This record gives sequence, structure tokens and C-alpha cells, in this order.
Amino acid sequence: MNDQAQRLAGRLLLHEELQLSEPEMTHYLATNKLTALSPFLKNFLSLQCRRCGNKQRHLFGEMPCSNCKKTHAYCRKCINMGRVMACTPLYWWTGPKPVWPQLAHPMVWSGQLTPAQQKASNCIYHAIKTGQASLLIHAVCGAGKTEMLFEGIAFALKSQKRICLATPRADVVRELLPRFEQAFLGVEIVGLYGGNGAHQQTGQLTIATTHQLLRYQHAFDVMIIDEVDAFPYHADPSLPYATKRAQTQQATTIYLTATPREKRLKRLPTIFVPVRYHGYPLPIPQLKIVPLFDHSHGLTSLWTWYKGRTDPNRQLLIFTATIKQANQLFPVIKRRYPDQRVMLVHANDAERIDKVRQFRDKQLDILITTTILERGVTFPSVDVVVLQADHHVFDQAALVQIAGRAGRDPKDPNGDVIFIYSGKTRAIAHAVRAIKRMNKKAGF
Ligand SMILES: [Zn+2]
Ligand SMILES: [Zn+2]
Repeated sequence: MNDQAQRLAGRLLLHEELQLSEPEMTHYLATNKLTALSPFLKNFLSLQCRRCGNKQRHLFGEMPCSNCKKTHAYCRKCINMGRVMACTPLYWWTGPKPVWPQLAHPMVWSGQLTPAQQKASNCIYHAIKTGQASLLIHAVCGAGKTEMLFEGIAFALKSQKRICLATPRADVVRELLPRFEQAFLGVEIVGLYGGNGAHQQTGQLTIATTHQLLRYQHAFDVMIIDEVDAFPYHADPSLPYATKRAQTQQATTIYLTATPREKRLKRLPTIFVPVRYHGYPLPIPQLKIVPLFDHSHGLTSLWTWYKGRTDPNRQLLIFTATIKQANQLFPVIKRRYPDQRVMLVHANDAERIDKVRQFRDKQLDILITTTILERGVTFPSVDVVVLQADHHVFDQAALVQIAGRAGRDPKDPNGDVIFIYSGKTRAIAHAVRAIKRMNKKAGF
């Protein structure tokens, strides 16, 4: 029974996602271990999808149902997780609570925290221990956020709490999972993102995209939301809805970000970590202004900088505003630098994971990318160029994050960061100001 409780507790699943035999299903329903919940909440005039929280009328469709032989509503908003029709119940475990193994020493990580990391780590530990409702860790890119979490998570594991580390980006899940598996050897850890096929697995520690939390209800005693300001978390109301619902009532929520943009976040109890773990300042972006009549679209500036760059051994990340622009740039860069290994990656790229891995393994010299690599990925020694940095996709948070890709390693803490643009935006000005301010707070 505990196996089923571990697998099903705190989840909100469709019939086919339960993966139970018909006799098991009938038995669990008859003994109230499983409860069928109506998928839509009906208010006087409106409908709300229980799974994704959608209330918008135009995001409900209608279609004929082969079961009921009539036409009824379904939610279009969350359809990519399996269609929810008016007659499709969502199943919720109401049986015994899962019991997680008693772990005396769940953490095997033995690294050293810097004083700034230790201070944040203590606050996280304290928040989890005392059941504090929320805490914001505002830490600059490269502050070593992940390690700050370890002691708090170890405490939660020992206390048999269930923990979720959620992030809007699948790349971040892929990057964090092996690091947690190493630090918490022997702990059941599950990593969830769209299409990775791990939905049937469970663990006391879950690392998931916020999107996957649409399948959870009242599951986690500790919810850590990494990169809380990243797209699409702040742009899609169903993600905060699902994240909130996935927590138990007494849960502690820890928010991690380098760029808090929401007013709501700024009101939370906050720990500020202005210094990178290696103790060097954040690289300040160099601004290259391109006249509007420049027909090279900023490429002349790129060529000039590239020729004189401080360290030719560094790899290069070139950010473009759109996939189209990335596609146009790719052959140009290859022609210009025939001896460099150049690749292109974007959100719809089927080989995206592999290309990022190749770049990390230094099998590539130059990677052209859209904003998908703006955060959560760490390469030890890179220069960063943003072309058309005045494009609206590059908001202040994105530019701060992109600049934060450079200089992550103590062996090479000073990567070049180049913003190329023709009209200075508020985002550019504010990003540069924010980076300088953080360096000042760190005592540089
Ligand atoms: Zn829905
Ligand atoms: Zn029906």
C-alpha cells in the first residue's frame, strides 16, 4: 500500500495516468482511497478547469463525447496533458499518507559554502524548520544558489517532508537533476519535464518544470521555485495556480531569483546575496552602438570585438532575438570563422539537449541561441554577445541573466559581455545599472 501511496498521493490524474488495473481501481474507489473529482468547477455563470485553473471562456471548446453521446465542454488550455472533458474525472489519492524512508544522513555533499552562501543557507534551513510561509533568496547569477539549498533540503528529507524544486525551464531541470543525485546519493529523486517519460516515477524529492505541477494537488511540504521570474511562469497564470495548489497548507515556499521583477516578490522576507561564489564581481556589459544606417546589422561591431577579444580560448554564446535571425546568422558566422565549430540552437530544435551538451563538453566553439539559454545553464568559460539587444524580447531580467552567463568559473571570472544595438532601451540601461549596483553592494 505504501508504494501506491508514494506513487499516487498528492497527484491529480486522469484515469489512464493512474495506471491501475480495473479491480484495483474499483477497490480503491469503493474504499475511498481514491476520490473522483469533477474536472470543472461551476460557478454561477462561469466554468473553471480544476487542473489548470483556466476560467477564460474562449479557452473552453465543445465536442461530441462518445461515452455520453452528447456534446460537452473540454479545456483547451491544458489539452497537451491529455484532454479533460466535462465527464472526465480527475483522480485524487485520499488513502493513507505515504511514508518516506527514515534517512539519517541524506546529504553526501561535503563542499564548503562561502560566508554569503552560508548566511542564505541558514535562513533557508530556519524557514523550513520553523514552517515559515515564504522566503525570497535574491542571489546574483553565479552566487551558487543550488548549494545554498542543500542543508535545508537535507533537513526536510530527514524530517520525512516531501520537497519539490520547481522551475519554469526544462533545461534547468536537466542541469539540476544530476547535481542533486550526486549530493543526495541514495535519496529517491525524480526529475519531471514534458516528454521525459518519468511521470510514473515518484520520489521524496521532485525536480520538475512548473508545468508538470498541473498534475499535483497538496503534495509538497517544501516548495522551492527557482528562476521564479523566468518565462513562462510570470506570463501564464496556470503555472502560479498549479504551483500553489501543489503545496500542502502548511508548506514553506522558497523563491530563488537573480532578477525579482514582481512587486509581490519584493514584499516577501528577503535574503540578498550580492556576491558570486568565487568572490569576483559580475562582468559589466560593454555597449556597442550601431548607427541605424549600418547595413551589417551590428555584425561589423561583432567582427571588431571578436578580433580583439581578451581571451581567444573562450567559447562564445551569441544571443539573437528571433529564430529567424539565428537562422540567417548561422551561415554568415560559419563563413566568417571557417575554423571554428559553430552550431545553432532554439526552442523548437529537436537536437537542443544534445547541442547544449556538446557546447558544455567543448565540442563547439560558437553557439548561436535565442533566449532559451538566458538562464539556468552554466558554462565555465564563455564570452557573450547579444545582437539587437534593443529588441523587446531582451527585457531587463533577460539581459541581466544573459550577462550572468559569463565569468562563472574561478579560473576565468571575467568573460566579455557585449550588447550590440542601435537604440538604447530602458531595459539595457536598467540591466547595466542593476549589475553595477550589485557589484557595489558586494563591496567592489
Ligand atoms: Zn485546463
Ligand atoms: Zn462525456
